Amino acid sequence: MRTQIVAGNWKMNNDLMQTQALITDLKKQTQSSNAEVMIATTYTNLYSAFEALKLTNIEVVAQNMHFAKNGAYTGEISAGMLKSIGIETVILGHSERRAQFGETDALLAEKVNAALENNMRIIFCFGEELNDRKTDNHFNVVEGQIKNGLFHLPESAWNSIVLAYEPVWAIGTGETASPDQAQEIHKFIRETLENKYGVDVANSVSILYGGSVKPNNAKEIFSKPDVDGGLIGGAALNAIDFYAIVNAF
Ligand code: PEP
Repeated sequence: MRTQIVAGNWKMNNDLMQTQALITDLKKQTQSSNAEVMIATTYTNLYSAFEALKLTNIEVVAQNMHFAKNGAYTGEISAGMLKSIGIETVILGHSERRAQFGETDALLAEKVNAALENNMRIIFCFGEELNDRKTDNHFNVVEGQIKNGLFHLPESAWNSIVLAYEPVWAIGTGETASPDQAQEIHKFIRETLENKYGVDVANSVSILYGGSVKPNNAKEIFSKPDVDGGLIGGAALNAIDFYAIVNAF
């Protein structure tokens, strides 16, 4: 059985006090859940969040990292730095990083390698823009992003990879892929993996859906056989909403 995961991406929200307040609220909601639960805070709050949550079942993860070990990369942080404060998982390739910070598939492949060299788990994001969907090009786009970012990896690396399909047109827009649309493309993603790595790898990789998942639609989306959880933006900023989504499993 694949791991079910609900990961909250806080993006550039919540200063230290707000982070502490939201963590206090999350702890009140915490109960045993069928899904692995993660939150991705800003860099400045990762360590305090890690310390505050280390005895709970909420994992604190990073939103991004640089591919280099260290050096003249002003403003960046490395996988080793994340590991040194206890962070074991990193989100890579979020559409906001791709669109606003020019992250290409080739750059992401380097980040993937650096994370794996540091024994980190990766939540690798990808997804089509609205125009790709309208022109029926979304399968090609998604396939290209996965191949270019990840298909250089050996089979053994896939233990450390979680995929997050996030159609750009559904992120933060209130629009969401219908459960059937999500299932259709998640199935395609799994088939793409199967063609390259075989059925065992394909069936073992968790594929999350992201894009305006809310308490009122999570259950239906998560009920689809190839949807193994969600990457949650806006609704992750409220503990009650976030846990309503976690408990949708
Ligand atoms: C996201 O940013 O990954 C995301 C899915 O955001 P939202 O849930 O707000 O659409």
